[in-house]
Amino acid sequence: MIIVMKHNATQAEVATVIAQVETVGLQARPIIGEERTVVAVVGDERPVETEHFELLDGVERVLRILHPFKLASRDFYADDSQVKINGVSVGGNRVVVMAGPCSVESREQLMETAAAVKEAGAHILRGGAFKPRTSPYAFQGLGLKGLELLREARDAYRLPIITEVVSPQDVTLVAQYTDILQIGARNMQNYALLHAIGETNKPILLKRGMMSTIEELLMAAEYILSHGNSRVMLCERGIRTFETATRNTFDINAIPVLKSLTHLPVIADPSHGTGKWELVTPVARAAIAAGADGVIVEVHPNPARAMSDGAQSLKPEKFAALVSEIRRIAEAMGRSV
Ligand code: PEP
Ligand code: MN
Repeated sequence: MIIVMKHNATQAEVATVIAQVETVGLQARPIIGEERTVVAVVGDERPVETEHFELLDGVERVLRILHPFKLASRDFYADDSQVKINGVSVGGNRVVVMAGPCSVESREQLMETAAAVKEAGAHILRGGAFKPRTSPYAFQGLGLKGLELLREARDAYRLPIITEVVSPQDVTLVAQYTDILQIGARNMQNYALLHAIGETNKPILLKRGMMSTIEELLMAAEYILSHGNSRVMLCERGIRTFETATRNTFDINAIPVLKSLTHLPVIADPSHGTGKWELVTPVARAAIAAGADGVIVEVHPNPARAMSDGAQSLKPEKFAALVSEIRRIAEAMGRSV
């Protein structure tokens, strides 16, 4: 059950609601949002009537949510929620394009890529500074230097940036540089990290774990939401299946499934979802047709020399073609890019 307080509810009214919840043997988890406080009720609530709380002062409405994810559920918020990032709105009519290199490698590489993706129509610049690699011997990213270069590119090209954070201790530092914190597939269930980013008010892109179900993805989002950060976007980036023709299997089903279960924006990553640059554009088209709110795409000026994920990185001219193709698909869907 979720008890939504009125936006002008007092602390005393919230305290009374919490006391009432505890009186009937349930636990109350108050979530203090920017707009209002919501009290999530945990425990076997079946014998308790919603009217029990509806009549208390300061309560706007009480919702019974049958899914295990509550704040992420469409039952909690029926509209599409929009995440606003310095003038870019994700989850609205406009399909959002995030693009850039897998890893920040050098100033020249990042600036050249930023200029190209901006020119092609990208709204947000991506780039990894802390890279979670399968091999400890592979390039691990430039770290702080990478964040500084991203900042420079952000200011030079006036593009909000997204970069990954891999450990709870780094959250404060990375949040000082970036507009969006990315949580990678390998960290989707790193609960200490989800807790830490849940206490910031930074927009989050939460990527689906490569072996995680849609419900597990939504429960991971619930961790972030339940710590007070409502600015969450989800990302389908491919899952591991028996198929070996591609790096991962992009789960196109996940897009309409997520859009029906949750109000959170859904972004598609056809780069990691396929692992092959030739497949990135067709899968991006499919994702937009399936209802994704945006794409995140890896672009590199010289993929053959990329320090990570060159095989799935598009050259700038191929990326420009991708943008014009998904624009046509978006328009067919009554949206724009
Ligand atoms: C990335 O975006 O470069 C990345 C590491 O993605 P994922 O976490 O989906 O593997
Ligand atoms: Mn990558």
